[in-house]
Amino acid sequence: MDSQNIKKAELHCHLDGILNLQYFHVISKNKFPISQEDLGKYRSCFPPKDLNSWLELLKSKERIITKYEDILFEALDLYFSDLARQNVIYSEIMLSNILYRDEDFQNTVQTFEKYYSLKLKYRPMKINFTVGIARTKKRDVFEKKLVRAEKLFKLNLIKGIAIAGDEYGSDIKDYTEFFKKMNEFHMGIEIHAGESGGPERIWDALQYGYCKRIGHGLAVFDDKKLIDYILKNEIHLEFCPSSNRILTKYKELKNHPINLARKYGMNFSINTDDPGDFNTNITKEYELVRQYCGFEKKDFENILYNSLTAGFSD
Ligand SMILES: [Zn+2]
Repeated sequence: MDSQNIKKAELHCHLDGILNLQYFHVISKNKFPISQEDLGKYRSCFPPKDLNSWLELLKSKERIITKYEDILFEALDLYFSDLARQNVIYSEIMLSNILYRDEDFQNTVQTFEKYYSLKLKYRPMKINFTVGIARTKKRDVFEKKLVRAEKLFKLNLIKGIAIAGDEYGSDIKDYTEFFKKMNEFHMGIEIHAGESGGPERIWDALQYGYCKRIGHGLAVFDDKKLIDYILKNEIHLEFCPSSNRILTKYKELKNHPINLARKYGMNFSINTDDPGDFNTNITKEYELVRQYCGFEKKDFENILYNSLTAGFSD
């Protein structure tokens, strides 16, 4: 079985996470030059081995993103070409960095419209956007972002939100009225939980966040009641093998909860999270799972079906 040719869908990928050295070189050559100093700093942090070195890499990337605003757009164009070559038929990208770059909402709308135009360029591959919102203890900041996301959804520029960042940064419970409202008008809701946090973070997301999709969800398997709830309610789990290997305790894929999820017949997908940061792509992730977890054609067919039905599509 050739992992490249398997039909795939990706639900969990952050816009700034797609940046990689190859894209930097192509953009530097064809669009605008990126300084050697900035590239050198990035190179010195790559590849990250654990959470701390990944945070260093993020800092070096942020320097570049702040200086060259259009770099994310240019990189996304390259990323979609790569996805099309890997037989990806559906892609969801979390547009995390552009939601509040500009205080002026009209400028933000224009930026999202520009991104929206990329969707059309890559037909027949289907693409949808969400916005990634980092948890924070600053209630006003978090609320402002949720409100803006809601407006972009009503303009049909995004399909939903993804709550990311430090799992202990805020409780979903404190914002439940926002999530209730979003759910009422069918806005897609994804919440990262159970990556570094325990099962209680996933319960918080499920009980108060009205979500049917959990990012990572590794801690599900530490709680029998949670396993039953996830199965009964067909909650979709977004696994990101390489990311999980670098950032969590699951250093060996043979011990990764994806094996249990398959055994229980759960609804889950395989994703890259931040392919540039973790030196991967969706084909490599599929190949890892094939090699180290013994996944077969039938498993990948189930994964495609589950990914497409969990997608925040029309
Ligand atoms: Zn993520």
